[in-house]
Amino acid sequence: MKKDWIFKQLDLIAQKFNFKLTDSINKIPEEAIQMILYGGNESLEVNSKDLGVKRKYKIDFEGIANFIDQTFTNNDSTSLQRWAKEFMDHIDCPSCEGARLRKESLYFKVNEMNIAQLANMDIAELVEWFDGLGSTLSRKQEQIATELLKEIRVRLQFLLDVGLDYLSLNRSAKSLSGGEAQRIRLATQIGSQLVGVLYILDEPSIGLHQRDNEKLINSLESLRDTGNSVVVVEHDKDMIERADYVIDIGPRAGKYGGGEIISKGTPAEILKHDTLTAQYLNGKLEIEVPKVRRKGNGEKISLKGCTGNNLKNVSIDLPLGKMIVVTGVSGSGKSTMINETLYPIMNAHFFNGVKIPKPYKSIKNLDAVDKVIDINQSPIGRTPRSNPATYTKTFDEIRSLFAKTPEALIRGYKPGRFSFNVLGGRCETCKGGGLRVIEMNFLPDVYVTCETCQGKRFNRETLEIRYKGKSISDVLNMTINEATDFFEPIPKIYRKLKTIKDVGLGYITLGQQSTTLSGGEAQRIKLASELSKRDTGNTFYILDEPTTGLHFEDIRVLLLVLNKLVEKGNTVLIIEHNMDVIKIADHIIDVGPEGGRGGGEILATGTPEKVAKHKTSHTARFLKKELGM
Ligand code: ADP
Ligand code: ZN
Repeated sequence: MKKDWIFKQLDLIAQKFNFKLTDSINKIPEEAIQMILYGGNESLEVNSKDLGVKRKYKIDFEGIANFIDQTFTNNDSTSLQRWAKEFMDHIDCPSCEGARLRKESLYFKVNEMNIAQLANMDIAELVEWFDGLGSTLSRKQEQIATELLKEIRVRLQFLLDVGLDYLSLNRSAKSLSGGEAQRIRLATQIGSQLVGVLYILDEPSIGLHQRDNEKLINSLESLRDTGNSVVVVEHDKDMIERADYVIDIGPRAGKYGGGEIISKGTPAEILKHDTLTAQYLNGKLEIEVPKVRRKGNGEKISLKGCTGNNLKNVSIDLPLGKMIVVTGVSGSGKSTMINETLYPIMNAHFFNGVKIPKPYKSIKNLDAVDKVIDINQSPIGRTPRSNPATYTKTFDEIRSLFAKTPEALIRGYKPGRFSFNVLGGRCETCKGGGLRVIEMNFLPDVYVTCETCQGKRFNRETLEIRYKGKSISDVLNMTINEATDFFEPIPKIYRKLKTIKDVGLGYITLGQQSTTLSGGEAQRIKLASELSKRDTGNTFYILDEPTTGLHFEDIRVLLLVLNKLVEKGNTVLIIEHNMDVIKIADHIIDVGPEGGRGGGEILATGTPEKVAKHKTSHTARFLKKELGM
């Protein structure tokens, strides 16, 4: 058994309360569990086995819960905080029950409602409430409130216009997705009635269902019409088609032929060129609808009675061996059902995950798959030291290769010599970071290139070792595309690089700091790393909006990769709004009909052809067009 300090303390607690550390938890007395979780100070006397005398010990234990709490609040290190967060959950404050205000403040009411109740309504509901308010006011009250009510109504309307009817006013800013926060800022701007402003938006369509996207485009047009200019960086087809002026940059990505303006003009003028964008816009290139939908392996996982957030006691079947797409307008409940209910359940089952799932009644047949893998958009590493090469373990192979070169053998350099993380081969001035931090008083830190190694990260002797003329630093500066060609003769390395290229990331460099990768890029690195592992052929993959930030051509390539996973027998579940993904699904789960309170139901399930026939679903409306029905 482990013998560190914490375990000694636990051992003493066990002796004091007469249980063994191997006992199951329901045999341990409540008092002891309290002490393990929340700590305590006690002395106790123990019969020492060998000497036959009593010895005094002191329990001086902080408690596991306190330790986690302290780690979370008193730490600057995000990795420790993240560790602590895995064990934490949000619950309502028992005193105000989540209302945030003291009893006295809640005593004041307008038309039977206090301010916390209003802030808790979703915006659609709140608008209705204000609409109904007028008739209940006395003449005098009306006089006082007229201006206020007008202001409130206008502002709420802006939020409706950008498709945020499902949010409540008290939602904490932290719990909003990037897209939601962006649309709130947009609503504020529309509300400000400024003219002559240049607005710049980066991919505002992320996370938006086609229906919400239309609302967004309308709001942007109304900003333009009040006398402003709007610049949008975007891949979305509808957005491009409704622009007044389009600038198409390419022709391809990264070092491989990017960085030029290949066409510009009205959407109609863009179409005359033969760029990738034009070819997708005019339908010359398209992601094909599969002729047949896969039958799956006949097994399914059944999740019943989900009631988290807005979910209205919904049950779903997940047919295995298929590509499943969960879709629905923003706020309909997709993330609640998949990321907050299904995934924590599966993660607990297969990997002892500790996140508490949102409430549900039952789940059946989990063992029909071998494991679950969540390929999300969180960063692949917390420090600038991790990069695509280290994350995918390609760098291990490359270091071994360098250690096998004749010169390295003569000098006795081992693979560790080529690591920038340990003493030996790295530049000691920057400790292998290639950068030096200059701490500025009262200002954010400044990073400058290390003057000793000129950013090469290794010392001179290490850089003298070359493989096919390239030093280890040269290799880190190669793009994945370049490296794939360079390492073609070395199957172990080539195979890993090729998968990164296959997920559309050929343009990033092997040594690019992972902190500079976008969420979508990080997600695709994870996907690549999963792909290059030997899969069990029976894994359940979950991906949340993998098309984020991808151009049509990248989406096509990504779908090839995901399809390959399913062909091997795995199940791939994707949360997605992109029609090109939805239309190639084997099985769709459409959540809706609206966001928030008006959502949380399963509208339709089945093949795209079947779901498209649904009478009221927003997804069905767009899907029909896509399938040419
Ligand atoms: P989707 O993934 O379909 O966009 P979500 O599952 O994120 O939808 O949201 C479903 C509903 O639950 C929405 O009304 C949303 O506002 C609400 N919701 C989501 N997260 C939280 C949260 N942390 N606190 C309160 N309500 C939430
Ligand atoms: Zn250096």
